Amino acid sequence: LASRMRVKASEVIAKLMGLGVMATINQAVDVDTAMLIATDFGYEVEQGITEEIGIQLLEESQEGGVAEPRSPVVTVMGHVDHGKTSILDAIRKTDVAEGEAGGITQHIGAYHVRSSAGDVTFVDTPGHAAFTEMRSRGAQVTDLVILVVAADDGVMDQTREAISHSQAANVPILVAVNKIDKANADVDRVKRELSDYDLIPEDWGGQTMYCETSAKKGIGIDELMEAIQLMAEMLELKADRKRNAKGRVIEAQLDKGRGPVATVLIQEGTLKVGDYVVVGMHSGKVRAMLDDRGRNMKTAGPSIPVEVQGLSGVPQAGDEFVVVTDEKMAKNVSQARAMKAREAELGASSKISLDKLFEKMSEGDVQELRVIIRSDVQGTLEAFAKAAEELSTKDIKVRVLHEGTGTITESDILLASASEAIIIGFNVRPTVKVKELAVKENVDVRSYDVIYHALDDIRKAMVGMLEPTY
Ligand code: GDP
Repeated sequence: LASRMRVKASEVIAKLMGLGVMATINQAVDVDTAMLIATDFGYEVEQGITEEIGIQLLEESQEGGVAEPRSPVVTVMGHVDHGKTSILDAIRKTDVAEGEAGGITQHIGAYHVRSSAGDVTFVDTPGHAAFTEMRSRGAQVTDLVILVVAADDGVMDQTREAISHSQAANVPILVAVNKIDKANADVDRVKRELSDYDLIPEDWGGQTMYCETSAKKGIGIDELMEAIQLMAEMLELKADRKRNAKGRVIEAQLDKGRGPVATVLIQEGTLKVGDYVVVGMHSGKVRAMLDDRGRNMKTAGPSIPVEVQGLSGVPQAGDEFVVVTDEKMAKNVSQARAMKAREAELGASSKISLDKLFEKMSEGDVQELRVIIRSDVQGTLEAFAKAAEELSTKDIKVRVLHEGTGTITESDILLASASEAIIIGFNVRPTVKVKELAVKENVDVRSYDVIYHALDDIRKAMVGMLEPTY
C-alpha cells in the first residue's frame, strides 16, 4: 500500500497505529482499513475482484461437467479392542492388487482397496475423535461409517460416542458385529442394544445393514465389502473427474528430505503433477505424488488419496485444497486465507451459546438447539434429555446429540464444536485441559446441580430472557 502511494512504509504503519491497528511491514490489511489510510494520503482505494471470488468464478466456470460414480470413503469406528484395526487389516488382505509389483504399503493416512466387490477408500485413523476433529474444520470426507461392535462385549461407551458422532454428521452407519468366533458371542444382544440407537437391523424390519465378522478368522469380510458397495450404490456417490481437482487434507507433516508433505483425498476432479494448488493457508506446485503403496503417480482422480510434495508449508488435517490457474493466484489466495484466519481468531466467535441463542434465533440463524449432556448418574441423563426435548417449540427444536455418564471429554468438545452444540453437565466438572479446549473451540459449557435450573435457563434463553453470565 505504501509503495503504491509512494510514501514511506513507516508512515503507513504510524497511521495504522493511530487507528489502533498494530501492523508490521509485510502484514496484509483489510479493504476498509486500506480505504481509511488511503484517504488520509489523498488516495482512493477501489475494490477489485478478490482472489477468493476468483476461485469461485473458476469453480462456477467448471460446473456442468459429467458426474460419474466414484468409490466410497469409509471410516471405521467402535469401542477400543472391538477389532477396528483387525478388520482394516483383514480387508487390506482382500485387495486384489496385493502382491502386485512395486508396491509396499505406506502409511499415508488413507488407502484405497480394490476388491472383487468394488473399490473402497479407508481413512486410516479409526475412531470418532479424528473424524469429528476434521468435521470441526468443515471437512466431511467420510461417506459411511463401519461401526465395529464385539459380539462378546456389546455396546460400550465408545460405541455410543461413535454413534452420536456419526449421526450428528448425518453419515450412515453399517454395523460389523465382530468376534463371532468367540464362544460367548451373542449377535442378537448386540442388535437389541443397538436398536435403542435407531440402528434397527433390516431383518427386524429396520434400515440398518449388519454384517457378522471374525477379523481373526477372516469370516464375513467379503460380505462386509459387498455391503459397503450396496450402501455406496444407495448413496449414489458421484464426482466430475474432468474438472480441476479439489479435496481435503487427511494428514500432513514436515519430511526431513522432502519438505512439507500432505496426504490429500481428492473429492472432485483430477489432480496432476505440475498443478498449482492452494492448501489451507499454504500454496505450491505439485512436484510429485505418491500413492498408498509408495508408487509415483502422474494423476489422481476422485476418492483417491495421494501424498503430495511441493507445498510452501505444512497444512492441517481437514484443510481444503483446490487447484488454481497459476502461481500468482495460488499465492494470493493462500495469503487471503491466512489473513481471514487471523481475523477470525481475533474477531468474536460465531459459535452458539445459550446467551446468544435468542439473538441467533431472531436472525433466523438457528432452528435447532443441539445439546450434549453429561451427568454423574444415568437417571439424570434420561430425565433431562426427555424434558429438554419437550421444550421444543414451533420456532426451535431442542435436540440431544449425545448423552453419557462421567466427566466432559475432549471428544464432547469437538462434537459440540463441529455440530454447533452446547454442553450441559450435571455434577461433573471438566478438567483444566478440557476447559482450555472449550475456550479454544468457543464451546459453551454449563454446569448445573439440578435439572430444574438447567431447564429453566434453556426456557429463558429461548425467549430471550436469560441474563448473560460473565
Ligand atoms: P481395536 O482397538 O478396535 O483396533 O481392536 P484390535 O483390532 O486391536 O483388536 C483387539 C483385540 O481383539 C486383538 O487382540 C485382536 O486380535 C482381537 N480380535 C480382533 N478381531 C477378533 C475376532 O474376530 N475374533 C477374536 N477372537 N479376536 C479378535
